[in-house]
Amino acid sequence: MLNLTRQMIEIRNLLSSIDHDGLRLPSIVVIGSQSSGKSSVLESIVGHEFLPKGSNMVTRRPIELTLINSPESAADVAEFPALKMFNLTDFEQVQKILFDLNMAVPETECISNDPIQITIKSPRVPDLSLVDLPGYIQVEAADQPLELKQKIRRLCDRYLEAPNIILAISAADVDLANSSALRASRLADPRGERTIGVVTKIDLVDPIQATKILTNRKYPLKMGYVGVITKAPKTVKPGSGLFSRKAITGYQAYVAQQNFEHTYFKENREEFVGTTTGTRNLRRKLMKVLEKSMAASLRPTHFTIQQELEETSYQFKVQFNDRPLTPEMYLANNIDMLKLATKELSHNFSRRELRSLLKNELDQKVLDLLAERYWNKPFQLGKSNTIIEPDLKELSQISNIEDDIYWHKKLDLTTSSLTKLGVGRLSTNLVTNALITEVENLVNNTQLRNHPMAKNAVKDAAKSVLGGKFFSTADQVENCIKPYKYEIELEDREWQTSKDNAVSLLKEEIRQCDEVYNSLKKQVGGRKLSQVTTYLEKLKQQQNQEQNVDFNSQETLGFSPTLIKCGEEAIFLKDRLSLLKMRYQFIKNSKKCKKKENKYQCPEIFLDAVASKVTSTSILFLNVELLSDFYYNFPRELDLKFFNNLSKEEIENFAKEDPKIKKHIELQERKDLLENALSKIESVLAIQRTKLGGVGDS
Ligand code: GDP
Repeated sequence: MLNLTRQMIEIRNLLSSIDHDGLRLPSIVVIGSQSSGKSSVLESIVGHEFLPKGSNMVTRRPIELTLINSPESAADVAEFPALKMFNLTDFEQVQKILFDLNMAVPETECISNDPIQITIKSPRVPDLSLVDLPGYIQVEAADQPLELKQKIRRLCDRYLEAPNIILAISAADVDLANSSALRASRLADPRGERTIGVVTKIDLVDPIQATKILTNRKYPLKMGYVGVITKAPKTVKPGSGLFSRKAITGYQAYVAQQNFEHTYFKENREEFVGTTTGTRNLRRKLMKVLEKSMAASLRPTHFTIQQELEETSYQFKVQFNDRPLTPEMYLANNIDMLKLATKELSHNFSRRELRSLLKNELDQKVLDLLAERYWNKPFQLGKSNTIIEPDLKELSQISNIEDDIYWHKKLDLTTSSLTKLGVGRLSTNLVTNALITEVENLVNNTQLRNHPMAKNAVKDAAKSVLGGKFFSTADQVENCIKPYKYEIELEDREWQTSKDNAVSLLKEEIRQCDEVYNSLKKQVGGRKLSQVTTYLEKLKQQQNQEQNVDFNSQETLGFSPTLIKCGEEAIFLKDRLSLLKMRYQFIKNSKKCKKKENKYQCPEIFLDAVASKVTSTSILFLNVELLSDFYYNFPRELDLKFFNNLSKEEIENFAKEDPKIKKHIELQERKDLLENALSKIESVLAIQRTKLGGVGDS
């Protein structure tokens, strides 16, 4: 069987997402005043009670109902494709969903143009496309503002236009002259060519009168009238035709209605001669009429799709150079670029970079320790304590350092401060942060920078890969450097390298110190600074001589506290500078510094050597445990986050965050959709041709 209607309904639903007036395939639009039996007619066609009811229930949104005959399915199912709800078998739930969707439109807005789409699949329904139109009838009745009336009318008029078929429902117990459904249909279809009249509640009037209504000449309709009984009296038992006290619902009610209607028309067969009656016949009629109307729409629709496709393809070529793009492609492209960039990063940010990163950090720690333990001016206390620390100047002069316990202890303590500062955590943290920053830079070089959510997701992916390894790596690095906490053995070559390092470190430290001093000088003014420093130095001398002078109570010669502070800082910097210069000369030039045995006299060199050793050992481990692991697992984590965990909808939302991409994707979607509809309609046309050819041949 050709099953034209089914395929055309499919095409119709495809085209419904395209905003184009000419692209409409016919549907059956159901209208009827309240209580005319409109819901009962629709439900008897579907075979389920599924429409929301209640005295206040007014349809506020068009319900587009697609019925699909599916002989193979075991149960009747309903679907709300737009809500992504499928396989609903509980029709009370369907009724509830429809109620909620309907009521979501505020009363003040009266109606919404946005249709509710529902599909029902059942072996018992025919292939049909129906629309339950909102309160058409209320237009005239209610005293609504003009604006709303126009809104309702516009919406209804659009649905009542050709090629749609109008199903005008009137009740037999109300004079047809008063039927608002017929009045409305006559406005949209004055010649009565597209309207089927349905007269409900036939059981409520005498059969002879009913026949008169159904064959009336007063309101002639080319497709005629169908008389139906869509509700069996409430107390009838299914199939019995006898009265009982129990009310029935659901499928039983449907069976009861069918039986009651069948029996009624059978019993009054003679009176109804020459009329069309019964919901079964109504269904058949609807199928036939829809199929015919669909067939008539085939060619014009084909033509319109073709034209529309040409225009869309042209736009696609002009605007996007025919470059195909789907949300998935867009996402995949960006993730691929990110993976590629990560691969590049693995060449540019590897062991060497890691090493200098950690070494720089440890250099800073070494400088801090030196400043704290060695480069500070000897501490001078009051009278009773005199000077308790030897001056650093003495250090270079000591000839037999081997016996000097003070300097031995000092270096041992400083070294142990360095090796025990928590290098495991520090280095792991350093590498982790550096990698996260690198990843952020990579993201900023791709289009992902325009997608805040994706940007965060990439960062999270990096964090989760690195985070999973953090504690174990930190512990293991700490274990690896453990031996240095007890003993450090150096080779001559290592000493030499560290000597060079120490010289350049000192040089840099001198430069920085100089810079700070000069900027202070600039800020305060050279003369003023020298005045305040001279004053402070004199004061100090005096203090040392008198020993009990209270510094704070001294005359400040009109220097402001801020200036005094600057002066103190300048003195500190000058002292530090001369100390650093002295150490620089010593480390660089003294013969003593050439030998590792003199390490107690050259803490700058020795501490650098320790830092270098700790760095190398840590890096060996970090490189394998953290860096290589990251380069291996990060791309996998990206796949997991972006491809395994994102739904189609999320990917689409993501891609469309970028307005340019949105436009591109939407044009592509429109083109794909039109191509799809065109090929479907062409296959229907081809089948129709062979069918007609076959008929012609025989
Ligand atoms: P709607 O407001 O147009 O949707 O009308 P309904 O389908 O809700 O029906 C209105 C009332 O008429 C309900 O009480 C139905 O039970 C009753 N009704 C509907 N169809 C028939 C029918 O064919 N015969 C009888 N006797 N009552 C019917």
